[in-house]
Amino acid sequence: MNTKMAVIKEDDFNYDAVFEAAEVIRAGGLVAFPTETVYGLGADALNSEAVKKIFEAKGRPQDNPLIIHVADKDIKKYAENISPIAEELINKFWPGPLTIILSKSSIIPFVTSANLNTVGIRMPASKIALELIKASGVPIAAPSANISGRPSPTDFERCVEDLNGKVDYILGGNISEVGLESTIVDCTVNPPCVLRPGAVTLEMLKAIHKDIYIDPAVMKKPAENLKPKAPGMKYRHYAPKAKVKIIEGDLKKTIEKINEMVLNYIDENLKVGIMATDESLPFYKFGEVISLGSRKDLNSIAQNLFETLRTFDDKNVDVILSEAFIREGIGIAIMNRLTKAAGFDIITLD
Ligand code: AMP
Ligand code: MG
Repeated sequence: MNTKMAVIKEDDFNYDAVFEAAEVIRAGGLVAFPTETVYGLGADALNSEAVKKIFEAKGRPQDNPLIIHVADKDIKKYAENISPIAEELINKFWPGPLTIILSKSSIIPFVTSANLNTVGIRMPASKIALELIKASGVPIAAPSANISGRPSPTDFERCVEDLNGKVDYILGGNISEVGLESTIVDCTVNPPCVLRPGAVTLEMLKAIHKDIYIDPAVMKKPAENLKPKAPGMKYRHYAPKAKVKIIEGDLKKTIEKINEMVLNYIDENLKVGIMATDESLPFYKFGEVISLGSRKDLNSIAQNLFETLRTFDDKNVDVILSEAFIREGIGIAIMNRLTKAAGFDIITLD
């Protein structure tokens, strides 16, 4: 397939490219596009045949439901039993990195919801995404624009890397500001429950409704036979080709442990990458070292996480040793993605 591409600049917004991409969506094709969380791979959410193509292009398991993206807070056409709390969350956090799970209306095909009676809905903040949805005139079903299992793309080049030749159109824009997928809140239960942590943090959600909580399964290794509430949680995710290990504990001890481990791996002729921070960077002498940013700015660490995992793949490292982060605020989402990338391989220092 010949993939058409256009990069849109914010100060010189190219509506022609957006209209052209919207035409592809309306015709049942696939368009990758930027959002503030990560890049998405979109199709007309109401068209089963179009949505099937998303699963094929990504190699995504059919039982992993898609989030539909809307350009308006009025979602009565797509969801039923919208609770007052759901409405409050929508009013407070849309447009933005929050997905709400609600009972689906009959116009949402079961391919989109992966046979569930519920649907995930989000109104993104990115201008390109919003204009694309508006011009398409339909909600856009869009998972992250990566080959299934790989770290999500946060810029145009990474989308092209994964999807060139597999989709009809790739729209490029800025680097995704958040860098992690949306927070998912299940509003079909009371109190609502967080199924995936993201940039809309638990603290922010609790300010709206104090009983909102994070599903305990979120940070646990999924059991073989477990049926998770967010089906995507059971799959290996965010994983680079290299083996990832997390070292968690006091920073000074973490640095010592990582330095000791690096030398052992080098002895075994393995190439090692270290995911460091600005604070620890000067203390690593061996291996390929990349800083995710300053520990004082967890948002920038979130933004750089997936791109850094992919950079280590480009460098063909065999092992990635990563520092851990505080498990509060957006740190919960960072640790969630990192833990999954590591297949739950965490060394806890005392
Ligand atoms: P992705 O778009 O690749 O970030 O994946 C979407 C995520 O949203 C998956 O992990 C799904 O499990 C989750 N999700 C989407 N729709 C639903 C739903 N109706 N109920 C629960 N989780 C959902
Ligand atoms: Mg994904």
